[in-house]
Amino acid sequence: MWSPHPFHWVPAGGQRHASTDAHPNGGHLYPDGTAVTTLCGDSTLQADNGDHAWLWSECETCRAHTYDLAGTPPPPALLAVAS
Ligand SMILES: [Zn+2]
Repeated sequence: MWSPHPFHWVPAGGQRHASTDAHPNGGHLYPDGTAVTTLCGDSTLQADNGDHAWLWSECETCRAHTYDLAGTPPPPALLAVAS
């Protein structure tokens, strides 16, 4: 599957985090309950694809790290979060 960046977004724990974990079984998302390692380092989260999950706000720490993985500088407002 084509993937623009080496990470995936995953709703978990009330926020949308990002993870470099591969999607299980060649799927397009992490099924509900999948344990994910997020870029912000929270290792206790499980994917949640509930009705509102994809509308949750982004985890700012994960978002900051995605700029590193995408090879592009983050906007100034995120620099404080990334450090
Ligand atoms: Zn996060």
